[in-house]
Amino acid sequence: MTTKRKLNAVAMLRRRLAGYSLQAIADEAGVSRTRVHQILTPPVAVKEAVRVKFKDRCAECKTLVGTYGHVHLVGAKGIDTYQDITKLELLCGACHQPKHARKRRKGKTE
Ligand SMILES: [Zn+2]
Ligand SMILES: [Zn+2]
Repeated sequence: MTTKRKLNAVAMLRRRLAGYSLQAIADEAGVSRTRVHQILTPPVAVKEAVRVKFKDRCAECKTLVGTYGHVHLVGAKGIDTYQDITKLELLCGACHQPKHARKRRKGKTE
């Protein structure tokens, strides 16, 4: 990638983990919100591995979620955690949403 961004992926992820909204990060980085989302979403291969690990079921309620599952960062402290399968879990939307509910009130995120 040769784009000149004001923030690299690590800097973006750091802000995301600190509770910034995608839009706030996009504004700071000078890129679109969609681009930030792409950068911060786990790579397809990682998501696949998480699905296999959790056998396509939500880690909390065991509902079968398959490709609709959300990949959630557990702990959310490190910066390379999207590559680290031990820190990721598969959740259904209903179980995932409350995990971000407190942070979410600050800004519009997803
Ligand atoms: Zn669930
Ligand atoms: Zn999450």
